[in-house]
Amino acid sequence: MGPKRFVADTVRVLPFTIAIAAAALSAQTRGTPWITPAPAEVDAIYPDIEALYIDLHRNPELAFQETQTAAKLAARVKALGFEVATGVGRTGIVAIMKNGTGPTVMLRTELDALPVAEKTGLPFASTVVVKNANGQSTPAMHACGHDLHMSAWAGTARLMAEHRDRWRGTLIMVGQPAEETGGGASAMLMDGLFTRFPRPDAVLSLHDDDTMPAGTIGYHPGYFRAMSDTVVITVYGRGGHAAMPHNTVDPVVLAARIVLTLQTVVSRENNPVDPVVVTIGSIHGGTVGNIIPDEVQLQLSVRTNTPEVRTRTLAAIRRIAKGEADAAGAAREPLVDLPFPTSAAVYNDPALTLRLAGALKRGLGEKNVIEMPQKMTSEDFSEYGLAGVPAVLLHIGAVDPVKLAASRQTGIPVPAPHSPEWAPEREPTLKAAVRAEATALLELLRGN
Ligand SMILES: [Zn+2]
Ligand SMILES: [Zn+2]
Repeated sequence: MGPKRFVADTVRVLPFTIAIAAAALSAQTRGTPWITPAPAEVDAIYPDIEALYIDLHRNPELAFQETQTAAKLAARVKALGFEVATGVGRTGIVAIMKNGTGPTVMLRTELDALPVAEKTGLPFASTVVVKNANGQSTPAMHACGHDLHMSAWAGTARLMAEHRDRWRGTLIMVGQPAEETGGGASAMLMDGLFTRFPRPDAVLSLHDDDTMPAGTIGYHPGYFRAMSDTVVITVYGRGGHAAMPHNTVDPVVLAARIVLTLQTVVSRENNPVDPVVVTIGSIHGGTVGNIIPDEVQLQLSVRTNTPEVRTRTLAAIRRIAKGEADAAGAAREPLVDLPFPTSAAVYNDPALTLRLAGALKRGLGEKNVIEMPQKMTSEDFSEYGLAGVPAVLLHIGAVDPVKLAASRQTGIPVPAPHSPEWAPEREPTLKAAVRAEATALLELLRGN
């Protein structure tokens, strides 16, 4: 603020200055200046971010169709004084606030919803039906909590913009499309996220979680989310009459053998210290009971952490499919296909993760910040780390602690992300998410 402007604005600015001075004094007396927003500061903006949450929840949009969603977020950050670029990586947004010399830090939210029919029973449940990428009608729901991530992101942007005195550097707020289908993060990177815009020194994101009480922050240094591959196996037999099996090679029996033998990839071939999942989620063949079909198709989801284990696991799947087909006397080798690009593992930069965990413990309290186990689910947040920037994906518990305790007693899991019943415990989760994000950003942007 220049001297002229100071004179002109003295009357308006004076109470603000006094408020700042008083807050600084009280922060100093607590001995923890500006490491985290006070709960009252988050309470003050809560009605606004809750309204956004409800609006986004009611109006979900699928991957690469998030135009209304992106427009809502872009308008908000623009009003806060960010420079905003839209249409980055098709529907993504990049909002930049330069605030003096200091590091560049990026906070990412996802924009997209899932093709799921909501069954939460919430008064603001989605009833939206949209077209998927193939033009088919499908219900849509924010079943992964990306609406919660966006609302917290917007609240964090507001706190950071309204308290520029608390930090130095460049803040980049990113709304990323198409996390659920994969491809959103890479679309933004290919569209120049790290070249057309300032390259960040650190990238952060926060995801809701069904295993921790609402508002608890979970961190995990190192590999946190798995690599994911979809494998499609087509086995070929020789079809015929169900009553004349001796004239056929039955691909249903062959597929069944493959399903069972594949169970030994994890249990017998893999080193138990390396996490691997091989799930056969779909098996299709035949039309009626009295015909032996020609072929059967199996669809697998394979989760691994490292390229070595992935290569070994995929080789084992190919070998078993071929070996069982040989044993069955199939005339043709099975086709083993990987129709989608591999989604990489999320690797949380260990030093940055521990630094943020320390700041979050100081800001939110030791008991509210816990080290959590890794997960075999995947996230395309991995792309930012692969692009060479230290990246950390934190999780936030979003479940009513009473319900969580009851589920631990009964062993019946609570609904989790991607379930039609996933309904994060709204107020405590949103408030803690804003505090956690702002705390993490203040830690990295405090200018040392
Ligand atoms: Zn998801
Ligand atoms: Zn998600």
